[in-house]
Amino acid sequence: MPQEKWNYNPFWDEVVSRMQSSLSEQECITWLNRISYAGSEDHKLVLAVPSLFIRDYVSTQYKPAIQSMLNELTGEAVTVDILVKKMSAQTGSQGQSEGTQHRQAEHEKPAKSHQVSAPLPKAQKKPRDPNINTSYQFESFVVGDNSAFAYSVSMAIAKNPGVSYNPCLIYGGVGLGKTHLIQSIGNYIQDYTPELQVVYVTAEMFTNEFIQSIGEEKTPQFRNKYRKADVLLIDDIHFLQKKSSTQEEMFHVFNNLFEANKQLVFTCDRPINELQDIADRLKNRFTRGINVDLQPPDFETRLAILRRKCEGKACHISSEVLEYIGKSVNTNVRDLEASLTKLIAYSNLLNKEITLDIAREQLKSTYSMSKDQSMSIDSIIRVIADYFNISPYDIKGKKRTKSVVLPRQIAMYVARTITDFSTTEIGYEFGGRDHTTVMHSVQRVEGMIQSDIAVSNSIQNLIRQAQSFKREK
Ligand code: ADP
Ligand code: MG
Repeated sequence: MPQEKWNYNPFWDEVVSRMQSSLSEQECITWLNRISYAGSEDHKLVLAVPSLFIRDYVSTQYKPAIQSMLNELTGEAVTVDILVKKMSAQTGSQGQSEGTQHRQAEHEKPAKSHQVSAPLPKAQKKPRDPNINTSYQFESFVVGDNSAFAYSVSMAIAKNPGVSYNPCLIYGGVGLGKTHLIQSIGNYIQDYTPELQVVYVTAEMFTNEFIQSIGEEKTPQFRNKYRKADVLLIDDIHFLQKKSSTQEEMFHVFNNLFEANKQLVFTCDRPINELQDIADRLKNRFTRGINVDLQPPDFETRLAILRRKCEGKACHISSEVLEYIGKSVNTNVRDLEASLTKLIAYSNLLNKEITLDIAREQLKSTYSMSKDQSMSIDSIIRVIADYFNISPYDIKGKKRTKSVVLPRQIAMYVARTITDFSTTEIGYEFGGRDHTTVMHSVQRVEGMIQSDIAVSNSIQNLIRQAQSFKREK
C-alpha cells in the first residue's frame, strides 16, 4: 500500500502527546516510550513494540484508548495493529503481527532509545548502584525446570518494574542463583531504563547501615536513600530474623515504596512462613505479591550450566568429565562452579589435560550428596536445632512435646540420609535411643516428604545447610 495515501504518523504523534499528559511518568517510561510508529495502511495504523509481553499489555491496556483517539482525530474508522519488532538498527528484523507466536522476542532486550515520534520530557539518568555486580546477567543464567518460573517472573519485573509481580519474593537454598537473579533484574533495569533509581542491598547491609545511622544520628539520610528508590532489591531477608528494630524499619520502607508503586524484590533461603522471629505484619508484606522458588537443578540442567561455564575459558574439558561432575556434584550451582574451577586450576597449573581419573581424584572430597562419615551427627543436630529455634539438648533429650519431637525425627532422617552411620549408631548419638526409634522416625519423615512438597523442599534445604555447615568448619 503506498505510504503517501495513508499516513497516520502525525495523528499518532498527537495521540502520544495526549497520552503523555494523562499517564504517569512511570507509565510513559515502561509502556508508552516502547511503542513506535511502524507504518500506515488502508484505515490501519501499524505500531511496533519490542516484545510480546509489552504487546499483550499495550493491547489490553491502551489499544482501545488509542483507537478511539485516532477515530476522533481522523474522523475515520481506523484500526490499530501492533507488531512485535526487534528495534535494534543493525538487525532490521521483521516484525510479527498480533497472534503470531514469537517466544524469542520475550528474551530480546528492548531498544535502548525510545522511538515515539513526539519528543518526551527527558528523564534523568540515575547513578548505577555500585553493589550490583555487572557479571550477573539474565543471559548468563541457565534456565532449567528448576528455575524457569523464577526466571520468567524476574525477567517480567526487569522489563516492567512496578507494574506487575510486586512485591516479589524469590526463595531457595544456598547457591541456587537467588543473588544472580535479583542482581540480573538490577542490571537489566539500569541498562534499559536508567532513569529509574535501583537500590540493591543484602539484609545484612541494610541492618548495618541502619544501626550505623542511629549511632551517627543520620537516620533521615538513611531513610531518604531508600525512599528515593524506584526499584528496591533486598537479598537474603532471612538475616532479619530476631532483629526486631531493623524489621520495623524495613516495614516502613516497604510501605512507603509499595504505596508509591515502586518495585520491591526480596530473596530468602526458605519460604517466608518458615522464618522464625519475624513480625507477622512484615511476613504479610513479603508474601503479598508473588512468591517463586528456585529448586536444585536436575542432571541435564547441571550439565548445561557446566557447559556454559566452560564457554570462553581457555581450558578444554571433555564431555565425559563434565558428565562426571554433573553426576557427582548434585547439591547446588555454587558447588558445581567450585568443582569446575578447581579442575581448571589444576589443569592450568600442571599443564595437564583433565582425565576422568584426575577429576575423580580431585573431586573426591567434594560436595556430593554421597554418604559421608566425616560429618558428625552433632553438627547435623546443631543445624536442625538452630533452624527450629530449639536447643541441641532438646533434640537429644527426653522431652516429648510436639515442638521437639518433629525436629528430632527430622534430624534423625537427615543423619540417616547424608551419613553412613547405622540406625544403632544414630540412636546412640540421639541420647541413647533404640535403633527402632530411628527407623520409625526415618519412615515417618519419608512419608511426610512424599505427601507434602513444601516439607520436602524444607528438608532438602536443611540437608544443604547441614552440608554447607560442615564445609565451613
Ligand atoms: P544464592 O544467592 O542462591 O546463594 P548465587 O546467586 O550466589 O546463589 O549463585 C551461586 C553461583 O552460581 C553464582 O556464581 C551464580 O552465578 C551461579 N549460578 C546460580 N544459578 C545459576 C544458573 N541457573 N545459571 C548459571 N549460573 C548460576
Ligand atoms: Mg545469595
